[in-house]
Amino acid sequence: MDTFHSHPRTAAYHSALVGREGVVVAVLTNGTTALVQLDGDAWDLPGGVRRWPLRWDDLDLKEPVGMVALPAYVTGWKKTGQSIELHAVEPGAKVAVCSSPARPLPMCGWSVPFSVTASRACPRCVALLKGS
Ligand SMILES: [Zn+2]
Repeated sequence: MDTFHSHPRTAAYHSALVGREGVVVAVLTNGTTALVQLDGDAWDLPGGVRRWPLRWDDLDLKEPVGMVALPAYVTGWKKTGQSIELHAVEPGAKVAVCSSPARPLPMCGWSVPFSVTASRACPRCVALLKGS
C-alpha cells in the first residue's frame, strides 16, 4: 500500500505503512476510502494503531473487483451450530439472499460489501449470486 492519496494524518505514517499488508474491513466516505486492518503484532503497528483509513488509489488490492464496486449486497452473519456463516443481504433487508435470517456485523453494521471469496461465505448465497 501507499499513502500518497490519503489523509495527511495517515500520510504522516507513510514510512511505517508502506509495504504493509492488511485487509479491508469497511468502506468509508461514500466508497472513496477503505478502512484497512493491518496484519502484524500490536507492538509493531505504526502508532499502535491497527486500523487505517486509506484511499483506494493507495491500495495494492489483490482482489479489486468485488470490493471497489458499489455493494449490491452487504454482509450479514448467522451462527449455525459452532460456526458463523456470512450471508449476502440486500441493503435494508434482514433476510439473506438464501432466505436465511441474518444480522449486521457487530463492528461494522451493514457497511461491509458481501464478498463471494470470504472464507465463511454462505455457499448458497454465493451460488445464488453467481447464478444470477
Ligand atoms: Zn446465505
